[in-house]
Amino acid sequence: MSTDSQSSAKGKNEILNRHNDAAANVVPETVQLYIGGQWMESASGETFETRDPTTGQTLATPQAGNSTDIDRAVDAAWKVYDETWSGYSPADRQQILNTIADRVDENAEDFATLETLDNGKPISEARIDMKLVADHFRYFAGATRINEGMTLPSDDRRHVQTLREPFGVVGQIIPWNFPLLMAAWKLAPALAVGNAVVLKPAEETPLTVLKLMHEIDDVLPDGVVNVVTGFGTEAGEPLTAHEGIRKVAFTGSTEVGREVMKNAAENITNITLELGGKSPLIVYPDADLDRAVQTTITAIFFNTGECCCAGSRLFLHAEIKDEFLTKLAKAAENLTVDDPLLESTQLGPKVTEEQVTRTMDYIDEARKAGAEFVTGGERPDDEALAEGCFVTPTLIDNIDHDNRAVQEEIFGPVQEVFEWTDYNEMIDLANDVDYGLAAGVITSDLTEAHRAARDLEAGNIWINQYNDFPAGQPFGGYKQSGIGRETAFEAVEHYTQTKTINMALD
Ligand code: NAD
Repeated sequence: MSTDSQSSAKGKNEILNRHNDAAANVVPETVQLYIGGQWMESASGETFETRDPTTGQTLATPQAGNSTDIDRAVDAAWKVYDETWSGYSPADRQQILNTIADRVDENAEDFATLETLDNGKPISEARIDMKLVADHFRYFAGATRINEGMTLPSDDRRHVQTLREPFGVVGQIIPWNFPLLMAAWKLAPALAVGNAVVLKPAEETPLTVLKLMHEIDDVLPDGVVNVVTGFGTEAGEPLTAHEGIRKVAFTGSTEVGREVMKNAAENITNITLELGGKSPLIVYPDADLDRAVQTTITAIFFNTGECCCAGSRLFLHAEIKDEFLTKLAKAAENLTVDDPLLESTQLGPKVTEEQVTRTMDYIDEARKAGAEFVTGGERPDDEALAEGCFVTPTLIDNIDHDNRAVQEEIFGPVQEVFEWTDYNEMIDLANDVDYGLAAGVITSDLTEAHRAARDLEAGNIWINQYNDFPAGQPFGGYKQSGIGRETAFEAVEHYTQTKTINMALD
């Protein structure tokens, strides 16, 4: 055996041992469906495997729920809603949400480790997620107290007022890229205003949501949150078309969002959709280039590029393009691509081998079209990472803006670069995609920054930074990136319906 292969075998074994030890500590013993406060098997008895994308090993075997399980969960949710939950005061709900936040904080390191094992994100980024999860529950704990109706101006014949009432039972479907954070974005506002919930996690990453239910089992009345794990068509679709579900909140791809919308139409069910993106990041010639390079690295490589709002189309002004791209390529090549459980790792594996194939298909398409690969576009050649779903940080130049790799969401560590000189042409191109989730502007000229912010068709604009989403700041998309806003008070409005009460005074 050569020295190289000995050291790679050693590296591979080290990773395997580290992951096995971590999994033994943090994977919940019970990964069944959580319905009416009970852990149970799926009606069909079927299960599926969730794998560690770093090692390829099976982490756990959760239940594959189906429409019967969704029926059970909806019944359990209505039962507790009708019997007790709808009578809880805002103060009671505030206390509950604050306790959930405390439990997340108390177990933050275990949650972060489990998220890294199940999703592959670097542990340093998983820790950021957990801080945001706790903060979202605290933000919406506060919101329980200000879900106010109005007394309306009227004449002396009538007294008119409005109430903001919960829907009753709501369905929530989440993706795999920020598993626990997406659950928090949905659960916290829904519970804050008194809904009961049936939640379906992504089949790729169900474990942190199941762990959350273990940690808060004694905090919530049985049935207020029900978790049905399983696949999209078997467990997700019945939830979106269920007549007992009064509102559906979905986060995922635009393609599935379209299906959700059609199914929700069956019962005219209220929906919010948080969908995909293909966001532009614009760099002006007056930018501080070193800082702009760091912002660009965050924009595209944070969470391994598996970020709905990733700044995946980079618009560089002609005056700085060459210098900027040289610096950016160097910074991308210097990113540490390694075992995500290591503190030093900056880019982990993608979530599944299927997602690697999807990313590599886009890369191949760009290559065939004659695009120039400034860096990356491959799987790493480190043998120790061979079992993992890794893709190197990739920058693509000289690609047509109509190419499928530019128009569609790759959802990986891949950024396409464009040169601009004329402002209006650049803005037209920046807006020339079906999506409108986010955009970034990097310049020291604040007038220009505000002009671009107004002209960009996107729900979230970052100026001189990227990927910053604290609780309290509305997040959501224009165009095919979605309907509605999360992470802020608007979400409270989305989880309530207005009742008008008009009383005669004569
Ligand atoms: P996906 O659309 O494939 O799946 C999302 C969820 O929908 C999963 O739980 C899946 O099981 C379920 N599902 C699949 N088919 C379904 C159906 N027919 N009916 C009901 N549910 C169904 O998305 P994904 O690959 O898990 O996640 C990546 C996508 O999520 C990306 O497009 C990303 O941009 C998007 N996303 C958006 C936001 C946002 O806030 N806008 C945030 C995170 C992720």
